[in-house]
Formats: sequence, C-alpha cells, structure tokens
Amino acid sequence: MRDILVINSGSSSLKFAMLGLDDLRALDDFSVHYQGQFSGLGGCQAHLVIRDGQGKILRDDHFAAIDDLYDHAAALKDLLKWMDENTDSSRIRAIGHRIVHGGRHYRQPVRLDEGVLDDLETLIPLAPLHQPHCLGPVRMLLTLRPDVPQVGCFDTGFHAGQDPVAQAFALPRRLTEAGLIRYGFHGLSYEYISRRFPAYLHRPETGRVIAAHLGNGASLCAMLNGVSVASTMGFTALDGLPMGTRCGNIDPGLVLHLLTAEGMTAQQVGDLLYKQSGLLGVSGISGDMRDLLESEMPSAKEAVDLFVYRIIREIGSLSAALGGVDHLVFTAGIGENAAPVREMVSKGCEWLGIRCDHSRNQRGEIRISEDGSPVGVWVIPTNEERMIAWHTAHYCH
Ligand code: ADP
Repeated sequence: MRDILVINSGSSSLKFAMLGLDDLRALDDFSVHYQGQFSGLGGCQAHLVIRDGQGKILRDDHFAAIDDLYDHAAALKDLLKWMDENTDSSRIRAIGHRIVHGGRHYRQPVRLDEGVLDDLETLIPLAPLHQPHCLGPVRMLLTLRPDVPQVGCFDTGFHAGQDPVAQAFALPRRLTEAGLIRYGFHGLSYEYISRRFPAYLHRPETGRVIAAHLGNGASLCAMLNGVSVASTMGFTALDGLPMGTRCGNIDPGLVLHLLTAEGMTAQQVGDLLYKQSGLLGVSGISGDMRDLLESEMPSAKEAVDLFVYRIIREIGSLSAALGGVDHLVFTAGIGENAAPVREMVSKGCEWLGIRCDHSRNQRGEIRISEDGSPVGVWVIPTNEERMIAWHTAHYCH
C-alpha cells in the first residue's frame, strides 16, 4: 500500500487527505485513511476537523495564535505533529499539492524542487491570494520531509490546450505574448469530471459537455470529449460567474472608474472585487448559498437570482463555443447540494433542450434530466484530492 498525502491550500483554508493505493488503475482505487481541513486561517483562531474514511470525526479543535496570527505555516506544523503522534507517517510515499497557477509552461503535474518553486513564485502576481498559500507548504515540506517526493498539480493545466482564439484577450499582441491570456481554473475538478463521466454514460466519447463547478469559487467549462475548449474564468480566478465573495465578470471600465473617480487604491479595489462582492456583496447577508436559500430577505433572493442568471447566460455562451450541448454536469458544494439552483438554471436553459426532472433533482439522483430530454443533466461529485493523488501516485517509488 502506498500512502499519498494531498494538500489543497486555499486563501484561508488548508484541506488535506491521506489516501492509500494498492494498484494504480482507476481514480476510485484509492482508499481514504483520513481527511480534513483547517478553516479561518490568517486570523486569531482557526478550526480543524479531521475525519476518517467513513466520516467519523477524529479531531475537532480550535487553535489560537500564540503571539501572531494563526496562519498556514502554523496549521501545517500542527497537522504534521498530529500525524506523527496518531498515524504511521513513515508510510507516506509522496505528497501531492494543488497549485493554482502553472502559467504558460507548467501544464502537466511536475516534481517540485527548489528550482521549480522559484519559477512558480514568479507567478504570484497572477494569483496573489492563492499562489503564495499553495507554495508555502511546499517550501516547508522540502525542509521538514526532504526524502518524500512532492508533486505539483496545476489548476490551469487542464485548460492549457485550448485554441489560442479561446485564450486571447483583444489586447495588443505584446501583452498576449507576455502571457496576459485566459488561463481558466478549477482544472483538477474538471479533469476529475472528464475522467469519471464516461463511466456514467457507459461510453468513452462524452460529446459536448458543459460542467458547472459551483462552490465558493464558481466557473463553467466547455469540454469536447473530455478536452477543455473554453472556460468562464480568465486571467485570474475573478472572471466569469459571480462567486461567494468575488464579483465575476464586470466591465473593466468600472475598475478604472473606481481607481479614478472614486479615488480607491489598487489594494482597496482588489479587496472589493475579491472579498466583498459576489453573493455576499449583492445580498449584504452572506456569501454562503445555504444562508441565502434559507433567508426571507429580498436581497438574498436577488443575489441568488443574479447568480443563476449569470450561469444561464454563460451556458449560452459556452454552448456557442461547443456548437451545441449534449450534457450539463453540476458539481461542487452548490452544484452537488443546492437543488433549487440546479432547477432554476435548468429552467433558464430549456431552449437548449435541457429538461430537469423535479423529483429526481429533489432526490439528488445522479441523472436528473427528464426521460427523453435532448440534453442529459447530471450531478457528479467532484474530487480534486483524488485527482491530485492519482497524478502524484505516478511519482511513488
Ligand atoms: P470551496 O470552493 O470552498 O471548496 P464548496 O465546493 O465546499 O466550496 O462549496 C461551498 C458552497 O456550497 C457554499 O456556498 C455552500 O453554502 C454551498 N452548499 C453546501 N451545501 C449546501 C446545501 N446543502 N445547499 C445549498 N448550498 C450548499
């Protein structure tokens, strides 16, 4: 059995999973020893939950900072301590990391060493909220676990083969050549869906698929037989759909307006667009879909309506990029759990032949389209951790 530790480090969270593997054939050959997450990182107190493979809680704890903020580095140290005290961490054969940005050059998973890390650090300006948190744990583990290979898996990699016309902004050539293009994100989630979907369809060719990764971050990806052809996210993970706290697509002239007429600094505009917008900004209540669906406030409904409206419009756009659509797949926290959102999105896409069966949707079945619906509508749980482990397993001795 090979044990693989997966680290998925976000802006304020650090998710981890220890997966075991006997024989690398399919994505589902992994068993989960334990998995968990630190949330609230970067503040005074963080919350840790660890569960075993059956979902039983192994640890549920709060950590307070001693004289500074409790950050990703503190969380990783506490995780390693817990692993050393409670598990046989000598069995770890490799560590796989989700790395948000691979830029133009890193498309495939890669063994991480000092040189590669230096290279990836040059991409921090392209994903300032995420990339430093992805790379920090790698650097720490290179020191603390120097004998264990570490592998970087890129969220941008899945989209790297898109046609240049799908990647380009209409900007002067020199900027495009300097790498100011649409990269697209959530690639590990879409890769997982693209690899799992043929088994649901019982055939290798999946046709024209639009996958909707709707979580705190949200995007859509158009795939032709499992290959990404277009995505709603762009140069940064700010583009496309409204998200929990991010604005999604807006007129770039609005940014200029905020900087000039409103006199805001770049830092203030960044905070506004990344942290105070989206579902949170529109509702004024919460960036969490559960809260909004439960709320009676009109502004909660307005936020959900805008989220749904933008998804419907972008599905139209991606259908055009694909020349039609055969399947719509919902995934991630909202996509997998929020039946009302799936129903509203499907209703707005009836003109495309998308017909959602109310009862199947309510029951949360895997295929939720009506019998005879020209377009299949599906709910498929994503699993970025398994995708990372699968890539990382190729580097195990
Ligand atoms: P992340 O991008 O942080 O991984 P998730 O994929 O876990 O996020 O998605 C989080 C989102 O999913 C939140 O908006 C949350 O409210 C929503 N969500 C989770 N469960 C439900 C549910 N049962 N009903 C509606 N929304 C849900």
